[in-house]
Amino acid sequence: MFKERIYNFNPGPATLPLPVLKEAQAEFLNFAGSGMSILEISHRAKAYDEVHQKAKADIKELMGLGDDYEVLFCQGGASQQFAMIAMNFATKENPGNYVLSGSFASKAYEEAELLGVGEIAASSKDVNFKHIPTQYEIKLNPNAAYLHLCYNNTIFGTEFNYIPDTKGVPLFADMSSDMLSRPIDFKKFDFIYAGAQKNMGPAGVVIVVAKKSLLENSPKTLPTMLRYSTFLKKDSLYNTPPAFCIYMVGKIAAWIKENGGLVEMEKKNREKAKILYDAIDSSDGFYKGHADKDSRSLMNVTFRLPSEDLEKKFVAEALEKGLSGVKGHRSVGGMRASIYNAMPKEGVEKLATFMADFKKNNA
Ligand SMILES: *Cc1c(COP(=O)(O)O)cnc(C)c1O
Repeated sequence: MFKERIYNFNPGPATLPLPVLKEAQAEFLNFAGSGMSILEISHRAKAYDEVHQKAKADIKELMGLGDDYEVLFCQGGASQQFAMIAMNFATKENPGNYVLSGSFASKAYEEAELLGVGEIAASSKDVNFKHIPTQYEIKLNPNAAYLHLCYNNTIFGTEFNYIPDTKGVPLFADMSSDMLSRPIDFKKFDFIYAGAQKNMGPAGVVIVVAKKSLLENSPKTLPTMLRYSTFLKKDSLYNTPPAFCIYMVGKIAAWIKENGGLVEMEKKNREKAKILYDAIDSSDGFYKGHADKDSRSLMNVTFRLPSEDLEKKFVAEALEKGLSGVKGHRSVGGMRASIYNAMPKEGVEKLATFMADFKKNNA
């Protein structure tokens, strides 16, 4: 039992900024003078509409995008986007093309494959996804409806450090675990989406940021809630949106703005990642990183120890020190430290110190 908050390295749902949690707590019983909780008011109320519009505007401002892009709030997780994207945009003549760089990238492809509209443009599966395919490795069908990337591979701990040139094919990206973590030339993308529960808020909402022109003409044969055009036309209010989640996402976007925007997020995220990668690289092989150096993620740091017994011991002793959630995903094994925007540098320093001590006691 912990009496205080501890450092939470879980991949998602993940740690959220403490000032945001406190603000939400303070407003919880009486939102904006309504005498009711945000959980209890209508999604058509003016006070809610202000939250909805401000969240959208702040996200676009942080990403440096203009009126040709729209922000949508969807449900069903990033996993439902895998299916919706294929259903809305891909056909047999113009299939979706996919870069398989990890599990979620592969799941996205599998949804398109179910519909017979998916093609693999590149894959690093043969090396257990330890690197991101290069531009040279991507074989893109010029008739593709889109090229789909998973920009940060949460499970394997790899991240794109370049934006592929698609020669005019629309570029789509799952940025669930790195959206708003650093400045990226978002204008080069036509469609970006993120399940909020990694870097942007609680589970329950997916943020879609896409070119309006793409969202206007969804196939009329699709069910209403599976058409992006429904979300565009009704401003994501066709049905009851996950109001509390959107409120939290809005607070996190505002917190990022107050704390120097994406430039400052990147600076802090690079400092944090460097501390952990240095701890791995200077351990004389005791810790082994999963990702190739040129594909290392700033958000999820994956590494192994010399044996599974030591890995179990590491997880247990880390938790005793107030370092939670460092166990890796079963497909990679070992450890994974997720160090999203909200993870303070002090937490990462404490983990690096623990890593050095653990090595000393167990090498
Ligand atoms: C977690 C994750 C998903 C799955 O998100 P859900 O909201 O659980 O469907 C998809 N893509 C990436 C990159 C993720 O990290």
